[in-house]
Order: sequence, then C-alpha cells, then structure tokens
Amino acid sequence: MSGSEFRYCPRCGASLQEESLFGRARPVCPDCRWIYFADPKVAVAALVIQQGQVLLVQRSNEPQRGLWSLPAGFMDSDEDPAAAAERECLEETGLRVQVTGLLDVIGGLEHPHGAHLLIVYRAQVLGGALQPADDAAGAAFFSLEHLPPLAFRTTAQVIQQHRATLPAENSS
Ligand SMILES: [Zn+2]
Repeated sequence: MSGSEFRYCPRCGASLQEESLFGRARPVCPDCRWIYFADPKVAVAALVIQQGQVLLVQRSNEPQRGLWSLPAGFMDSDEDPAAAAERECLEETGLRVQVTGLLDVIGGLEHPHGAHLLIVYRAQVLGGALQPADDAAGAAFFSLEHLPPLAFRTTAQVIQQHRATLPAENSS
C-alpha cells in the first residue's frame, strides 16, 4: 500500500485495496468503503521577542538533538491553534505567553516525524519563570546577532522574517 501505514481497514478489518479516488490513489476498504486519507499533521510555534532577543528551546530528542528551535509542538485535533502555541511555550520554557498575531503558515515536512504544516504565531510574555521543561533541554533568549545552532529551516526562516520587519539600523 503506497503512502499508507495501514494494510487492514481499522473499522472492519478487511484488507485495503488501492483505488483512484479524489484525484489520487488511496487505500480503500472493499467491504465498508472506509477511505484512508493522509491528513496533514499540524504543529504550532511561538516567536517570542523580548528586548530584541528571541526565545529558543534546545531539543532533547532526535532529530537535531542539542540544536535550538522555536517553542513548538503538535496541536491536538480539538485544540485552538493559538491556545496550543501558548500551551507548548509554557510547557517547554515555563513562560506564560499570549499570542498577539499570526506570523506565517509554512508547509513542508522537515523530517519523517515532523509536521506537514507549521503555524507560527507572534507571542508576548505575560509571566512565569524561564525554565526548560517537558522535552526541552534548555530555554533561553538569544540576541539575533548571536544565535545558537538552529535545528530547522523553519526556525531560521521565521527569525529572518522577523528581522526583515526591523528598522535597518537594528537588523544588520
Ligand atoms: Zn472496512
């Protein structure tokens, strides 16, 4: 079965067969007509800037263990995406933040266990104490001129987008 981790119908147990449906080949159950759709996994991230510095977390898990990324994580299907970004930030950095706006929506899988879609919000700190937790090995604010090794293309892209919004004298 190309592109699917399912060989059997999760609803009735029959062997799935591939059929051309809705524009591409998809695994389909010949008995109950269940169709496997490869739905995108969605992650949310927070860009938190404080006194010109960006909040980053150090990854404690592979891939890219030890490298730094924006506070981010997968959202649950019943979660509000902005609330999910605030939750992930609190879980990973100890800081309570509030989303202030949408920065970007970025498509493209960066690694096999990653997200197909990343929603990036701007957020500001409300309170809390900076302390790495959950799956973060570190959490810190970094000057845009002295960034640590970044884990993902999207992290670099988002920081570059932020720099592009700054006055010229501060973005060099
Ligand atoms: Zn079935």
